[in-house]
Amino acid sequence: MGCTATDIAAALRAAATVVDEHRDELVELDREIGDGDHGENMKRGFTAVLSTLDTAVPETPGAVLKVAATTLISKVGGAAGPLYGTAFLRAATALGDRSELDGADVAMALRAALEGVQARGKAEQADKTMVDALIPAVAAAEAAKGGSVAEVLAAAADAAEEGANSTVDLVARKGRASYLGERSAGHLDPGARSTALLVRCFAEAAK
Ligand code: ADP
Ligand code: MG
Repeated sequence: MGCTATDIAAALRAAATVVDEHRDELVELDREIGDGDHGENMKRGFTAVLSTLDTAVPETPGAVLKVAATTLISKVGGAAGPLYGTAFLRAATALGDRSELDGADVAMALRAALEGVQARGKAEQADKTMVDALIPAVAAAEAAKGGSVAEVLAAAADAAEEGANSTVDLVARKGRASYLGERSAGHLDPGARSTALLVRCFAEAAK
């Protein structure tokens, strides 16, 4: 069975809970190599997504992702707001008016999200950003794309976590953390961590 607009809305509601639960952790990570607002930015954004979805759930997965994108762009702020907003918007556009998604659709949407983040933020692999979680997630999703949505997302979530953890050793070359130069090494990137949390949450929701 494919993934419908209702399923996507449920996954986004679950994401709001996960972001809320990890708010302090993300603040702490961002305090170490940034300005300490990432957890609050994400919480504000996903709480707003929750109220948008309480008003009305659009009819297709793409349309649900699009309202989430618009909300994130206007509410998250910081560097991450426009980046996450672009990710969800590109995923929405890639899905068009499909009413149900299979594993291959999800892999394609993840690829579009990554391309959006890179078009907007110009980060490459190993710049110590959310891209370090997304690149391996997309590769794993594409390798698993013959499987179910749950299988594709589970593979992506494992890879995203590994990718996020790989940012610890890196020196930041993009975003606020890059101002620290070599001193940014030895810390987990907050945006890579939030990306890994989101992909894991979507994988759990797809089960
Ligand atoms: P700000 O840095 O403006 O305070 P946040 O704290 O909300 O914004 O988000 C910081 C995160 O955004 C970083 O941990 C990093 O993962 C991500 N980020 C910053 N700049 C870029 C970029 N150019 N491309 C991709 N991700 C980026
Ligand atoms: Mg910050």
